[in-house]
Amino acid sequence: MSRLLLRNFRERPDVAVSASGLRIRSADGREVIDGSGGAAVACLGHAHPVVLEAIRKQIETVCYVHTGFYVGEPVEALAEQLVGHEPGGLTHAYFVSSGSEGVEAALKLARQYALETGQPRREHVIGRRQSYHGNTLGALGAGGNQVRRPPYAPILPGASSHVSPCYPYREQRTDEDAAAYVQRLANELEAEFQRVGPDRVMAFIAEPVVGATLGCQPALPGYFRAVREICDRHGALLILDEVMCGLGRTGTLHAWEQEGVAPDIQVIAKGLGGGYQPIGGILVAGRIIAAIEAGSGLHRHGHTYAAHPVACAAALAVQQVIRDENLVEQVAIRGRQLEQALKRRLGQHPHVGDIRGRGLFWAMELVEDRETKRPFAPGIGMNGRVKLATFARGLACYPVGGTIDGVRGDHVLLAPPYIATEADIEAIVELMA
Ligand code: PMP
Repeated sequence: MSRLLLRNFRERPDVAVSASGLRIRSADGREVIDGSGGAAVACLGHAHPVVLEAIRKQIETVCYVHTGFYVGEPVEALAEQLVGHEPGGLTHAYFVSSGSEGVEAALKLARQYALETGQPRREHVIGRRQSYHGNTLGALGAGGNQVRRPPYAPILPGASSHVSPCYPYREQRTDEDAAAYVQRLANELEAEFQRVGPDRVMAFIAEPVVGATLGCQPALPGYFRAVREICDRHGALLILDEVMCGLGRTGTLHAWEQEGVAPDIQVIAKGLGGGYQPIGGILVAGRIIAAIEAGSGLHRHGHTYAAHPVACAAALAVQQVIRDENLVEQVAIRGRQLEQALKRRLGQHPHVGDIRGRGLFWAMELVEDRETKRPFAPGIGMNGRVKLATFARGLACYPVGGTIDGVRGDHVLLAPPYIATEADIEAIVELMA
């Protein structure tokens, strides 16, 4: 009997005993190629020597200090690496231990900003349906996940509502082009601001490329510019959740660069520490910091493990390797290969409805009927079946899903480490096919 409380009581995961590069070996001697970096986490693969050395050094010098007294040496350096060049006006960073904690920090900072700027009525966050921003109560409340929310609905913060995501495969009408669809979504968001009361909305939150719930879904061109314009007009902050799609994953360091708009607060996590240590964080616009400086001068939020020295040392090493080895460019190159290979090998498969993504962040939407886009019936869980079947053949892919008209959507996600070679990508797609 396992004493471990896992998601599925009947599941007995293999015991991993060693991992290096893209390969993970389990106790029974089996080797699997890590095609998704876990949940789009292991951007440098496993056991990268530079990261291991940075962690070892930090553990031997300062393992833990509390930010009330000290910061560890790599913490400032990590902030400098991420916001020293003030990308999109983001000037400050704060580090926590996970993506969910990052979202909580973002929401609380948005509320603090409202208070410090004399707008106490701003307490509402607008998110999108079929979104996931984390599993803590605040993050679950901001998200519009129809699978994970219901059991906890009574205990979630109430000041949130949700509009439609940009999901052309299923929601763009046949009688509208991309521009008309984007305009319809913008109109819906504007109407939601009006319904809530524009002076009550503190923030809008969305993923630039939706990972877990919609299967690597980028927005159509112009969508985020329209969103930014609506937020600005009503004085609400734009929070972009780049927990999954950020830090190189989509072929630019930040996914928002491809949208031509920058957020007020950006949430980061998975690719930040690459799984070497639990770490997440927020990057914050200078104007928010300036307002707080002019007000209380206090960041009213904190965690015991905020800016953990070992986690920050690991993340700093990961980010330096990404920069020094030009891995974001590499993601763009390998990403094109992954796209082409997936479309060539699986583009005509009768149960593959759509193949979409960016960089090394690709998903397939699985359908029962390609012509009508009819999903598999609830309970079939085709994404989970594909996961098990590919795992048995030596590939780890990540099953994800949202909710489509009450039916759970089936996607399998591929997010290979940025260090994947041409041969690795071919092997991943062959195993998937
Ligand atoms: N936001 C997004 C977009 C995510 O994909 C996730 C995790 N899958 C989270 C937030 C929460 O991150 P964590 O699991 O590290 O708390």
